[in-house]
Amino acid sequence: MLKTILWHSSMLESKNIKISEEVLKAIRNVPRHEFVPQKLVKYAYKDRPLAIGFGQTISQPFIVALMTELLNISDTSVVLEIGTGSGYQAAILAEMGVNVYSVEIIPELAEQASKVLNTLYPEIKLRVGDGYFGWKEYAPFDGIVVTAAVDHIPEPLTHQLKAGGKIVIPIGSPYTVQELIIVEKKINGDFILHQILPVRFVPLTGDH
Ligand code: SAH
Repeated sequence: MLKTILWHSSMLESKNIKISEEVLKAIRNVPRHEFVPQKLVKYAYKDRPLAIGFGQTISQPFIVALMTELLNISDTSVVLEIGTGSGYQAAILAEMGVNVYSVEIIPELAEQASKVLNTLYPEIKLRVGDGYFGWKEYAPFDGIVVTAAVDHIPEPLTHQLKAGGKIVIPIGSPYTVQELIIVEKKINGDFILHQILPVRFVPLTGDH
């Protein structure tokens, strides 16, 4: 799997993106098989998304590595994740020493993820709710990673991001292909958008 990630990362060199050693180390250290259903464990270390129930997926490790890299964070960062799903992306961030807050809209998935995370990374804070509105009580965040597709940038998240921070988010039609975008908040409060590559995520649901 690591080989695949390195292969993909050489593709990104034209965009000046390299997956850092810190991120690769976290990918190596987090036991992905703990986050996939029993019957799919044999595929846990393949570089592909897998079904986790309720029509949702655990993302492909390469995409998790890429989104983590693009957040440009350190072990003192506070990061909000929208779409806990299996808990794998949250685990990667926690493994890097990041202070992680994660919101999931499907209670059963949140419950499933919390069982795994309570053992491996009990410091991660989880909440059931519509992540479109972020997690105001703990804002502002150094980075926000949205792991479900939406056709616009959720405005509440832009307010919950620190100046200098980044939102990494798949933007586009939730039912086809999206573009992975970095929304960078400048010190003066302006936003700059960087388009990275086409991705395919499950839709961000909820009443917004
Ligand atoms: N980060 C996850 C990937 C999960 S797939 C992982 O590492 O496994 C996307 C997740 O987003 C699904 O679990 C889905 O239920 C959740 N989701 C969709 N809309 C949401 C919303 N409005 N708020 C919070 N979570 C949402």
